[in-house]
Amino acid sequence: MSMLPPVPVVPPADPRAPWWCYARLWFALLGLVALAGAAAGLVHLAVAGLILIVALAGAICVRRGRAWRVPLPIVPSAASAPPAQRPRVDPPLIALVAALPEPALLLTPDGEILSANERVALAVGAARVGDPLSFLVRVPEVLAAVRAGAEDGVPRRVEFAERIPLDRWLEAHVVPLHLQGGRPGGRPDAVLLTFRDLTAQRRVEQMRADFVANASHELRTPLASLSGFIETLLGPARNDAAARERFLTIMGAQARRMSRLIDDLLSLSRIELNVHVRPDTPVDLGGILAHVCDTLTPLAQDRGVTIELSRGAGAAMVRGDRDELIRLFENLVENALKYGLTGKRVEVGLAREAGPTGEVAVISVRDFGPGIAPEHLPRLTERFYRVDVAASRDQGGTGLGLAIVKHIVARHRGRMTVESSPGEGANFTVRLELAEETSKNEVNPAA
Ligand code: ADP
Repeated sequence: MSMLPPVPVVPPADPRAPWWCYARLWFALLGLVALAGAAAGLVHLAVAGLILIVALAGAICVRRGRAWRVPLPIVPSAASAPPAQRPRVDPPLIALVAALPEPALLLTPDGEILSANERVALAVGAARVGDPLSFLVRVPEVLAAVRAGAEDGVPRRVEFAERIPLDRWLEAHVVPLHLQGGRPGGRPDAVLLTFRDLTAQRRVEQMRADFVANASHELRTPLASLSGFIETLLGPARNDAAARERFLTIMGAQARRMSRLIDDLLSLSRIELNVHVRPDTPVDLGGILAHVCDTLTPLAQDRGVTIELSRGAGAAMVRGDRDELIRLFENLVENALKYGLTGKRVEVGLAREAGPTGEVAVISVRDFGPGIAPEHLPRLTERFYRVDVAASRDQGGTGLGLAIVKHIVARHRGRMTVESSPGEGANFTVRLELAEETSKNEVNPAA
């Protein structure tokens, strides 16, 4: 972005002096020359008198011409304002505005831009010194706040939303300034207008509200079903042994669902709390993957799916939290077994590749089921996001598995990618930086 031109610092002579100042000088000179010519006898007295009259008439017309100018409907420019009214803007003040971390504009009390920092261009558009603020900001509330602040000297804060080109929430602070030591609360010499982008904050608030709403909804459903069955068992089905048996089985499943949900919520909040602390215990990924596959083999057998583990990388040590890494790969393999069931096969692979700062372990969990449509891929790791809610519930899903995976990967400073096309299964790949121990082939027996 180009630098903004410096603000005039109450210069001794107005650099943009109006044309009539010079015209009056020329008429005065003409008059003097006519007088001098007449005195020296070079010009006839009558001619000199005529020239003198023309010069005087011209000077008077030019002077009155200032009064004839029709005022423009826009805010008058600071440069054209009489010097007495022009605010004193010193270079240190301009430097201060430029250094402010928020988008900031310094305005005359009439709303004309005196200075703007570079952040303004990103937040509201390119500001031009000398333009009225309304050329840049078209939000009536902000313009009204600036006008009011310039009248009564009271700071103001305005929140506003923009819909185009993107949904954004912004906050504008109007701070009247008394640069020449005037009385606070009186009419200021200048107005500082700063902006703050509230979009990220609003999104977090929205996410929190959605999360609480989703979590309570997820808990309320099985709870309502439990209460319903309890009432039935106490009432109409009191003496029906067959119904009691059936209802108790359903109640057991609902209670387990609630308990899984609470476990997942607690894990998520614990991992999220520690996401900034990178775990540093050396653990062997090969051992972890073998453990996960062994644990899930009974589930796979139940569903008629085989798990194939290929550990081409040999020992692959990473710095991590063993329990969290087990949870990560358990979630991915379990999802492959649950949603990729029709493919009858799940491949778990461990390989290495060169990364930007050294070697990385590449762990892939691939299934051959129905896959995931591309429009769902970017949202898969959102809390409670499911491609098919009923299918997820049938499988005992909470909708939090991949959110937990994302946080564990983030805590281990790794990366996760998902590749999938409908009908061709899904491939979840996690990349984790290998620890130095790997190159020395030290395997941690604990892992
Ligand atoms: P859930 O508890 O529902 O399994 P997850 O966060 O683990 O929640 O997964 C979110 C959604 O992503 C699932 O509901 C499912 O629709 C989809 N999904 C995850 N893994 C797979 C997969 N391997 N194949 C197809 N869909 C998947």
